[in-house]
Amino acid sequence: MEKKWKFFKSIHFKIALVFALILLLTLETVGALFVRQLEYQNLNTFKDSIQLKPYVETSLKKQLTDKDQVKANKQIKTLLQDADISNADQITVVDAHDNIRGTSQSSNQSVVGQKNTDSDIKSTLYNGKTIQKNTSANDSRYYTIITPLLDNEKNQNRIIGAVYIRANLGQVYRNINNVTTIYLFAAFLSILVGLLITMIVSRAITKPIEELKRQTEQIARGNYSGHVQVYGHDELGQLAHAVNNLSVQVEESQELTESERRRLDSVLDNMTDGVIATDRRGVVSIVNDEALDLLSDVKEEVVGQPILDVLKLQEKYTLKDLIDDPGQVLLDFSTPEHKLILSTHFSLIQRKSGFINGIVCVFHDVTAQQKINEDRRQFVSNVSHELRTPLTSVHSYIEALLDGAWEDKELAPKFLHVTQDETNRMIRMINDLLTLSRMDSGTQKYETELVNINRLFNYILDRFDMIVKTDDNKKHYKIKRDFIKQDLWSEIDTDRFTQVVDNIMNNAVKYSPDGGTITARLLENNDKIIMSISDEGLGIPRPALKHIFDRFYRVDKARSRAQGGSGLGLAISKEIIENFGGNIYVRSTEGQGSTFYITLPYESVEEDLWDDGKA
Ligand code: ADP
Repeated sequence: MEKKWKFFKSIHFKIALVFALILLLTLETVGALFVRQLEYQNLNTFKDSIQLKPYVETSLKKQLTDKDQVKANKQIKTLLQDADISNADQITVVDAHDNIRGTSQSSNQSVVGQKNTDSDIKSTLYNGKTIQKNTSANDSRYYTIITPLLDNEKNQNRIIGAVYIRANLGQVYRNINNVTTIYLFAAFLSILVGLLITMIVSRAITKPIEELKRQTEQIARGNYSGHVQVYGHDELGQLAHAVNNLSVQVEESQELTESERRRLDSVLDNMTDGVIATDRRGVVSIVNDEALDLLSDVKEEVVGQPILDVLKLQEKYTLKDLIDDPGQVLLDFSTPEHKLILSTHFSLIQRKSGFINGIVCVFHDVTAQQKINEDRRQFVSNVSHELRTPLTSVHSYIEALLDGAWEDKELAPKFLHVTQDETNRMIRMINDLLTLSRMDSGTQKYETELVNINRLFNYILDRFDMIVKTDDNKKHYKIKRDFIKQDLWSEIDTDRFTQVVDNIMNNAVKYSPDGGTITARLLENNDKIIMSISDEGLGIPRPALKHIFDRFYRVDKARSRAQGGSGLGLAISKEIIENFGGNIYVRSTEGQGSTFYITLPYESVEEDLWDDGKA
């Protein structure tokens, strides 16, 4: 149905229709003129043929002037029978006295001698004028002519009679109708042939147009491979040429744009910053891989979403704020499991005219940077806090001494002892900080050697056994050893390692009630030396476990400080053990005790070769 209407709307049909109409109009006009001319011509010829021959006319005149009417009428009858006027079916002769003198109709001879009743004949007899008339009777058309007969010999003007001739026009019109029918048939045929030719001609015109249309549609769809056939050098040929050129040019510029786009894509994808570009309504249209990586946890869908939505800025900013350049904006997308802070910069995509076409947002991950800044702030605050407490206490005791306590023999040494303890604590802490600083900068020296861990561990624990035995003021505890028989070797710095075990053992004593048991284990598993020290002390609350190795972290600040701790011991231990390629971690149940584990890489060596009998 649609296709049918399409055909009627096509140029092809319109051209054919116009040609057919012109042809029809031309043939109609020509036909009308032709038929009219034919009718006129035929009638004239016919009328010219309805004439009395001159000798018949002269003879009739002579008979009309003859005195002997009976004889004359006989003559007239003979004359009329011989008159030989084709197509004339009635010739009647009337004399000047209005008497019918003769008629060619043999069946109607009785009228001869009677008075004429025809008014036209009377009129001609009276004024001598010829009357020509077309009449119709009994479905036939007739042509009648009444001519006066003038006396040529005696008196020119005397009317001596009139001749009435009636001729049947049927044949003439039949001829005309025949010719008209032939003409109409010819016209109909020529319209049909003309229509056929027009269809062929218009097809020849519209075919290149259709090809051009198909090609331009292909170009619009991005297919440049087609080529329009050039049929000639007329306007359509030139147009086909122009479309072919256009196709090549569009393809070239498309390729250029495409390669530019690819270049831009590769630049964007290789950038270490995330980039998001939007259209002028703020809807994301371009996003690079880095941006997708950074935002993967924040938003699944990015392209096609409003930028305010993607960056979760709806509450703080409007699109206008972004256009007005809000400067650097820090976006915190941190979740309890994962910290993520992005630093963003917004700029505009503008046309030369100043029309804003979109917004570009460039951002990068500053989580690590922020963490460093935060740690630094925290560190300064911690150090200041840790130093202020002992300094304030030293300051108060010195003030008290200055206020006169120095004279008090009992108080003065006590105050000085406290001052000394506090100062020692500060020195210890500053030493610890310096050690950590050296470790951070990589300048801490380690004198590593292959060490028999069984012996070293035993040696350190022996020292702790000795302290319990010799120092009555100290807490009492029992050390249980559960060691693997085989000697285990690892490449470590003995002093630093001793520092770590000392710290863990001291903590086990510090944070356990009097009389507890400390269990020390040593075993080997999967080429790893595993040492553990378990106490039956306070234990560590579950939320504190992941912070226990952080600098300055203490579960109970007051208790730890009272025990002389600064919260740096485990942080230093972790740095040392990791430097040996090992690991340190803790398992603890609050109220039941804690176990600290140290793993070290195990170096398998021939014991006999190294064993010199000393630790
Ligand atoms: P401190 O000098 O305060 O002991 P550490 O870094 O050695 O510093 O320890 C950090 C914190 O870990 C301590 O303040 C303490 O709260 C907790 N802690 C360490 N060892 C134990 C343990 N064996 N039992 C319970 N708590 C412990």
